[in-house]
Amino acid sequence: MDGSLEFPVATPPAPGEAIAIAPGVFWLRMRLPFALNHINLWLLEDGPGWTIVDCGYALDETRDAWLRIFAERLGGRPVRRIIVTHFHPDHMGLGSWLAEHWGASLWTTEKEYLHARMMAQDIGEASAASRRDFARRAGLDEELCTVFGERQGNYRRGCPAVVPAYHRIGEGTVIEIGGRKWQVMIGEGHAPEHACLFCTETGVLIAGDQILPRISPNISVQTYEPDGNPLARYLASLKKLRAGVPSGVLVLPSHNLPFYGMHERIDELAAHHDARCDDVVTACTRPTSAAELLPVLFRRQLDRHQMGFALGEALAHLHYLEGLGALARQTGGDGVNRFQAK
Ligand SMILES: [Zn+2]
Repeated sequence: MDGSLEFPVATPPAPGEAIAIAPGVFWLRMRLPFALNHINLWLLEDGPGWTIVDCGYALDETRDAWLRIFAERLGGRPVRRIIVTHFHPDHMGLGSWLAEHWGASLWTTEKEYLHARMMAQDIGEASAASRRDFARRAGLDEELCTVFGERQGNYRRGCPAVVPAYHRIGEGTVIEIGGRKWQVMIGEGHAPEHACLFCTETGVLIAGDQILPRISPNISVQTYEPDGNPLARYLASLKKLRAGVPSGVLVLPSHNLPFYGMHERIDELAAHHDARCDDVVTACTRPTSAAELLPVLFRRQLDRHQMGFALGEALAHLHYLEGLGALARQTGGDGVNRFQAK
């Protein structure tokens, strides 16, 4: 699927190590306790100090890997700033710990900051009941609805604390890091106000999870916004990024390897969703729930962690097609939403 991409460095750094990947930018990698087992983080030279981009999931081994980086890679200079691309726990996770360790400020967009604060509070019976209802309306059986309800609290496992105050960045913000200008470009759909960072001078785009090689970023309807249409937002964002960033840039993604071929990858991602949409319309010859679509969209066996993402993804395609007028929604007497091709 990514035959048109070029990967300049084939071997990623081990946790606790760093590879110079672009002028003033070091590539770090930390472990994740999921099927997607790693995240890339970035360490940027920043004059008398350092700026970190993204923080890693709260694991003791990741704190240890950071401490090793601090001891061996900073040349005695302090971390002065932490930039977080989006609120997901592998990105925001250790932000509070890092900020406290260094007395550094945390920079992110307003929606990402507010989502992190919200998710950290997303506990209690009302929230669990709302998640179960979401799963029920999507057509999952009772056992899986219970699993869905239990997912609450997961955020705090990876992100135990969120800084009480932050520095806001947004579309068009220019951040000077080590004498170079990095422009903030916002993406939607994967997260509400995901910050990508583009340096025209060096031709580098820190893409976060907005553009990934090899895997398609998760685009999911969220339980707290059950009628959302994140796929429309995602595809519009890809178009905007394609128009705003030249194709020759080095893309630094949060997962897998840095690559060249940004425009090609954007085209592949858009084509991937187009093909998925075709599959969905073909499957919806009769009223079909999101749960019934899972075997159509995901041919592999899903674990419990993946099930949540998969259901959200199925709904994202259904809502997108409903928005385009290709599918019509009907709510059955059982409360399940089903979609049928018009
Ligand atoms: Zn993410």
